[in-house]
Amino acid sequence: MSERFEIVFLGTGGPLPNADRCGAGHVVVAGDTNVLVDCGWGAARKLIPSGVTPSSIGTALFTHMHSDHITDVPDFLFLRWVTGATTPLRVYGPEGTQEMIDGFMMALRRDIGFRIAHHGDKLHPNGIKVEVEEIPATESRRQFLDIGALRFESFEVNHFPVVPALGFRATYDDRSVVLSGDTKMCDSLSAASRDVDMLVCEALNVPMLQGMIDSLRPNAPLQAGTLEDVPSYHISTPEIAELARDANVGEVVLTHVLPSVKNDSAAEEAFMKGMSDVYPGSIRMARDTQRIPVRKRDS
Ligand SMILES: [Zn+2]
Ligand SMILES: [Zn+2]
Repeated sequence: MSERFEIVFLGTGGPLPNADRCGAGHVVVAGDTNVLVDCGWGAARKLIPSGVTPSSIGTALFTHMHSDHITDVPDFLFLRWVTGATTPLRVYGPEGTQEMIDGFMMALRRDIGFRIAHHGDKLHPNGIKVEVEEIPATESRRQFLDIGALRFESFEVNHFPVVPALGFRATYDDRSVVLSGDTKMCDSLSAASRDVDMLVCEALNVPMLQGMIDSLRPNAPLQAGTLEDVPSYHISTPEIAELARDANVGEVVLTHVLPSVKNDSAAEEAFMKGMSDVYPGSIRMARDTQRIPVRKRDS
């Protein structure tokens, strides 16, 4: 019987508002260990509906400092505290992570004081503390964290001009999963994905985005122009299929889908159209609050 090793998807959308898909957020579940990876808008609020108690998370990782990956951090810190955390949250992320945490802690400073004044020792003073370790960005995989048998490695991805930006590879119980973070097609992601059991990859559907740009252009030309910049730093669905085939990936799960499609099988199929012509393995799109086990690949 293999150990529990799952990815819980808190948010599978991008920066723009969407009723079905929140900003980026995942929980890597390995046995009894829960590790948060990114915490974009709405992600913290999806923890409890996803069956994860916020106080059960002792460690959080961040891929990069874009708003759709970090703006629910204050809600997460608060929810973690009031659901019973008694130890500081350990945080790992690229350069800029300390500044991000310091800024959110400053914003919460008065709230923390009010709640201690009101609830006293029912809230543990250490439960709202954070300890940050910034990790270097390296092209090849670099181990930075072991929690029991759960190992995390980081690698730098290409999300220029967002520098540094990281992807992560987690290994547990003889299985492995790569979380791409936000990136365009790049060699470091291909190398890190080599023979991995599951690739959790951000995804851009270029024709769908182009349709959105065309419909916005008459009445919102500036917003249309901003969206035209999006493809330069994201990976497209055909590129993901090629990468997965060439790197011998066991299966692919799409997340951070751009543009965000509804929780509708036909829309999801349309988004992934053509990928299975290139890559023979399983390809699916995650939905918010979904829990997907990391399975050992067949061969
Ligand atoms: Zn980004
Ligand atoms: Zn993003």
